[in-house]
Amino acid sequence: MKRILKWLGGIALVLLIAAGSLWFYAFGSNKPIVDGQAVAPGVQTVKDGFVSVFVVDAGPGKVALVDAGNDRSGKAILATLSARGLTPSSVAAIFLTHGHPDHTAACKVFPDAQVYALAQDVAMVGDAAKSTHPLKDGDVTTVGDLRVETFAVPGHTDGSAAYLARGVLFFGDSAGASKDGVMMKAVGLFSKSSAQNVASLKSLEGRLAPRASEVQALAFAHTGPLVGFRPFAAFVTSH
Ligand SMILES: [Zn+2]
Ligand SMILES: [Zn+2]
Repeated sequence: MKRILKWLGGIALVLLIAAGSLWFYAFGSNKPIVDGQAVAPGVQTVKDGFVSVFVVDAGPGKVALVDAGNDRSGKAILATLSARGLTPSSVAAIFLTHGHPDHTAACKVFPDAQVYALAQDVAMVGDAAKSTHPLKDGDVTTVGDLRVETFAVPGHTDGSAAYLARGVLFFGDSAGASKDGVMMKAVGLFSKSSAQNVASLKSLEGRLAPRASEVQALAFAHTGPLVGFRPFAAFVTSH
């Protein structure tokens, strides 16, 4: 009996170490997410555990969110809104970067928010939102005085979207940033197709390169942001 317990303990330890290394491999060298960080004027970071949500100004008393986090109660998002004198009803829109549940959890906390996702991921969002408006590549959505441009970047999921709003290019899980300020592709382990993810990023960089001066920052869901368009251009050179 004792021997079996010893064996089981050993196996549990090996599994724990394996899980830990996997976690480190996936996230260990990432630039950390900083709660409250202003990515650009009018774009604020909310750290919801291991994922970030962005609060984007859309006019007086009105904001949009990029993603809705991993916590169904939306606690971290609500705290940020409340500190700014805003309420759940101040959220007029939620732009989902994709349908994975760590990005959609708190959609229903915001009763007046129109929820948007790229058409291919609407089914994956499912019940996480009351209803989800389908977007397609090139769509421009207006929320108050905010203008949000949608770009299809399939690979992490079929309906992964990048959004350009207030000079910030939001990648969701389609890319990330290392501690050294290098832009990285989507984490392969959690992605549908790594090759398609890289191809989508290259194509988006090509489309936006003529407008590079409009891009003040690159924002990612599971890492901190990067400044300017240059890290995106460097990514394309090295892939
Ligand atoms: Zn994801
Ligand atoms: Zn994610």
